[in-house]
Amino acid sequence: MTRRKLAIIGNGMATSRLLDELSRRGGLQMFEVTVFGEEPHGAYNRILLNRILEGGAIDDITLKPAAWYAEQGVRFYPGRVVSRLSHAARRLWTDDGSEHFFHAAVFATGSVSRVPTVEGYFREDGRPKGGVFAYRTAADVERMRVWARPGQRAVVVGGGLLGLEAAKGLVDLGLEVTVAHLFETLMNRQVDQTGGQFLRRAIERLGITVRTSVNTKAVLGSDRVEGLQFGAGERLPADMVVFASGIKPRVDLAKDSDVPTNAGILADDRLETQLPGLYAVGECAEHAGTVYGTVQPIYEQCAVLADTLTGANPAARYRGSKVYTKLKVAGVEVASMGAVEAGSPDDEVVQVVEEKRSVYRKLIIRGDRLAGAVLVGDSSAAAGLVRVFDNRSPLPENRLDLLASGEAIPGSSAGNDPEVCNCHHVSTSTLVAEIRGGCDTLARLSNKTKAGTGCGSCRGQLADLILKNAPVTAGRAKG
Ligand SMILES: Cc1cc2nc3c(=O)[nH]c(=O)nc-3n(C[C@H](O)[C@H](O)[C@H](O)COP(=O)(O)OP(=O)(O)OC[C@H]3O[C@@H](n4cnc5c(N)ncnc54)[C@H](O)[C@@H]3O)c2cc1C
Repeated sequence: MTRRKLAIIGNGMATSRLLDELSRRGGLQMFEVTVFGEEPHGAYNRILLNRILEGGAIDDITLKPAAWYAEQGVRFYPGRVVSRLSHAARRLWTDDGSEHFFHAAVFATGSVSRVPTVEGYFREDGRPKGGVFAYRTAADVERMRVWARPGQRAVVVGGGLLGLEAAKGLVDLGLEVTVAHLFETLMNRQVDQTGGQFLRRAIERLGITVRTSVNTKAVLGSDRVEGLQFGAGERLPADMVVFASGIKPRVDLAKDSDVPTNAGILADDRLETQLPGLYAVGECAEHAGTVYGTVQPIYEQCAVLADTLTGANPAARYRGSKVYTKLKVAGVEVASMGAVEAGSPDDEVVQVVEEKRSVYRKLIIRGDRLAGAVLVGDSSAAAGLVRVFDNRSPLPENRLDLLASGEAIPGSSAGNDPEVCNCHHVSTSTLVAEIRGGCDTLARLSNKTKAGTGCGSCRGQLADLILKNAPVTAGRAKG
């Protein structure tokens, strides 16, 4: 029997996960899968891009080496852009002119860095000025590394997650780094004002200068950057500028192919676009008015899409995701979920401020249910809080128990077997069993369980578990 042809456009983190989910359901045998990837490598973990800035190679963050595709019977075209698609003809064309037939196709085209509307970003030939960078791809980061020299002055525009990560990478290379953020609070989407102040102090302790409430108006210099001009007319000299000020879903191919789009490619609860047989997943997809920009929701979409495509669960529906953030930003633990500010005077707010430990924790409680939480400096309570938040569990009378450990939280199973890797849902007991069975380095443990290969924020916890549980412990928590 001839297999149906499934084309996947884009080879980022969504595609990598979708291939895993398809594989689990026998989808790689069911379909003849072809992946078209603009970037020249196998899929890699974009979240860990800073490792390249630190001097690492693409292999250090690769999720699927090029050989993986052939081994799994997936046809893979690296470095190939899909430039045109016809739904009626069930065909797509790539930038080298080749034509490919498909029965079903998935848009997994992700996002690009938003090019800000600042004067002087581009040179006369239409390319960005020398020393002006986006922060999205391995190629961006490789170019940054080639340009950067110790002692240079770098400005990172954007004080969100990406900007702070870029700033940390550059300060580690010996540059004098300033973060210029439009809003008053760093990571203003994830933390409240006080959390932002704690975060700011932690970032400043790294030697990074933080400027908030500054509006970048222009890039100065002719062929190469010489500085930035802010709204109030102030000029800040710079040898290098990194823009990390938002992302834009890549919808152009879908739009040109008459697939309905809004901010993202419109997808229903089965992740199907409005044209049957065409699907969208990841940062390019818009579901119920939301485009997601972190991996956890995207992974949930991939599971539903794999169920849909393979028929493993025809009833599977994607109903949207609750967004949690648990990150290590420039070495600082940050977690947030739900509301970051009280919504009304009836909301109960619990704040714990520990100046000495540089830790700030806040809970927002509405009608005896957790409506939101912000943790800066110590996110060890995050897994338990996520469960309570998700299950809408009743809360302990002593609210501080919520911040202590999962054991005290009614309705939370975190106390019995806390989840360490929230991206791949790997529990403590699984990890301890693998460590005792011989996975006694981070690399081995991650290969076996996938823990630590998502956002990477649990790698410190993995290292601790190895030290505590490996049969021979000394010096094991490496690489
Ligand atoms: C520096 C950085 C740090 C991050 N940190 C975190 C974090 O801590 N936690 C978190 O949850 N998320 C984080 N994210 C976000 C996370 O990386 C994204 O949500 C995720 O990568 C999106 O996956 P995707 O596959 O939808 O898009 P992408 O990973 O962008 O992949 C899309 C791919 O499609 C390719 N493509 C596009 N159009 C075409 C075409 N026409 N033909 C062929 N190929 C095409 C692109 O070149 C790209 O390779 C971070 C992102 C960055 C950049």
